[in-house]
Amino acid sequence: MSRLALPQRVALAQRPTPLQYLPRASERWGCGHRLWVKRDDLTGCLLSGNKVRKLEFIVAHALAEGYDTLITCGGLQSNHCRATAFAAAQAGLGAHLVLRGDVPTAPQGNYLLGQLAGAVISCYPKSRYVAELPGLLDGWRAHYAQQGRKALVIPTGGSDGLGIWGYVAACEELHDDLRSAGIEAAQLVTATGSGGTQAGLTLGAALYGVPLTVWGVNVCDDEAYFLGKVAADVADWRSRFPGQPEVAVTARVIDGYVGDGYGVASSAVLQLIAELAALEGLLLDPVYTGKAFHGLVQELQAGRFEGTRDVVFLHSGGVFGVFPQADQFQFLHAVSGG
Ligand SMILES: *Cc1c(COP(=O)(O)O)cnc(C)c1O
Repeated sequence: MSRLALPQRVALAQRPTPLQYLPRASERWGCGHRLWVKRDDLTGCLLSGNKVRKLEFIVAHALAEGYDTLITCGGLQSNHCRATAFAAAQAGLGAHLVLRGDVPTAPQGNYLLGQLAGAVISCYPKSRYVAELPGLLDGWRAHYAQQGRKALVIPTGGSDGLGIWGYVAACEELHDDLRSAGIEAAQLVTATGSGGTQAGLTLGAALYGVPLTVWGVNVCDDEAYFLGKVAADVADWRSRFPGQPEVAVTARVIDGYVGDGYGVASSAVLQLIAELAALEGLLLDPVYTGKAFHGLVQELQAGRFEGTRDVVFLHSGGVFGVFPQADQFQFLHAVSGG
């Protein structure tokens, strides 16, 4: 594998993360496959999960170009916004989070952490957020410019031609992981929400010739949306970083597991989260990884990955999303009450 010349990055993530074999999960759900997990939930504690890999490149760009503030956006419990707030604090930059939803009466989870990291937070009702997001972001950017400050607007999830470098670079790691584990070829499954992780992995696997077939299980929107989004992120990457090798990028989406909507997990997903935690000591979240793992289990049973022995699940983080949904786990009381 020849290494690419990566753009500047700041070291925010604990890398490399482990690739772990899941013996009991393989036996229970593998249908003859070996199940592995790439532990990107271990990229850090507060700066954790998949967003940190993107932020390494985004923050380096911000520092190099003299920005003093990071503006970004997402849901009230956005992992990306929390990670951005901590990355900003660690780099000595300001952070401003533009969030979808009403100001919570009792801040918790990622919202509370963003506050603790000193981010300025603006909440907008869902309808206004959806209708006006680009204008809201640009309005805040202009607001900082008027004060003589320079704010960088980071798109949802840090997913654009710059942020996807995070998972392009992660493919170097995965190449080494597969080699050390003696895996010749594998299917890789990740949750997909703003598309950047999937785009980076799909592009990186092609650029480095890593024998991975990358699948995104969408937790919102649909297959058509993510095919377009991955293509758009890769096109943005090509235009911002010309001279890269020409490779074909084919996005693969596993649609059908959104359920009742973004952030809403079915009881099957919640049960599976509890089952995997008890079985392997691995904790997923109800918004992203729990849904994606549920999709993976269904697809294994349906035989989608037949012909490939090894299947890698990307654990993209999200642990703080468990606590705001604590009441969804009430079924546990019956079990632990004994
Ligand atoms: C944001 C996020 C994802 C989705 O990644 P995208 O790059 O936005 O598609 C998956 N898992 C977790 C825990 C996330 O926070």
